[in-house]
Amino acid sequence: MTTVKTPMVHAEGVRKHFGKVAVLQGIDLTVERGQVCCLLGPSGSGKSTFLRCINHLEKLDGGRLSVDGAPVGYRQQGNRLYELKEREIARSRRDIGMVFQRFNLFPHMTAEQNVMEAPMKVGGVARDEARADARRLLDRVGLADRADRYPAQLSGGQQQRVAIARALAMKPKLMLFDEPTSALDPELVGEVLDVMRQLASEGMTMVVVTHEIGFAREVADTAVFMDGGVVVETGTPRQVLGDPQQERTRAFLSKVL
Ligand code: ADP
Ligand code: MG
Repeated sequence: MTTVKTPMVHAEGVRKHFGKVAVLQGIDLTVERGQVCCLLGPSGSGKSTFLRCINHLEKLDGGRLSVDGAPVGYRQQGNRLYELKEREIARSRRDIGMVFQRFNLFPHMTAEQNVMEAPMKVGGVARDEARADARRLLDRVGLADRADRYPAQLSGGQQQRVAIARALAMKPKLMLFDEPTSALDPELVGEVLDVMRQLASEGMTMVVVTHEIGFAREVADTAVFMDGGVVVETGTPRQVLGDPQQERTRAFLSKVL
């Protein structure tokens, strides 16, 4: 018997529209366990919407999507589709960490309290254990000495690293990053990419929307170029970034490189 590994993310024909605008027009994408997938594409191509679909933040209008084999949006039984219950969605979402362009830290909480919050409130973890975990995670993102600082006392790069630690605190099996360095001053981009690079080398499965072509080249297992709500081209970074086959990919790369 052969065992077939369930991919971490599997999308088939995923569709999403806002009113009359078809934002995702049938996205096919597979991310294997332990792999890093970089999503590239011009503004408005549907990258954020697709990430939000993976994280149950948008309702799908068609197609199939699963995370580690668990359905997103609706489950199929026989020929019938059932919408997931709130409880099922909440459960699935715990396994997914998300980091946004804006850090969205709680401003009235220290770095450590930000990281402790979800495990205590959602995970039912005791305060002492949550604090010990938070310390470990802040150490991992290079901020052991900033645990007691409030967001306003931290640089943008430090805040984003706290946001990564906070997402990791729920022990996710998948991490989604939506342009995590786009709002940062250029000199702070590197420290955030370093943390992400380290996370990737430790085997975290990641889907990263980014314009950092260097990062994608170096860290991604697959690069996906999206435009107008479709996947235009997918392959290794070497293929997609180094030898793009589609004119739209070439035009985009010539602008960002
Ligand atoms: P990207 O992240 O690639 O820039 P988005 O997924 O943010 O693209 O957006 C894709 C398209 O969907 C854009 O045209 C955007 O205006 C539209 N859009 C995104 N979210 C909404 C929404 N909540 N309501 C209406 N239109 C939306
Ligand atoms: Mg976006």
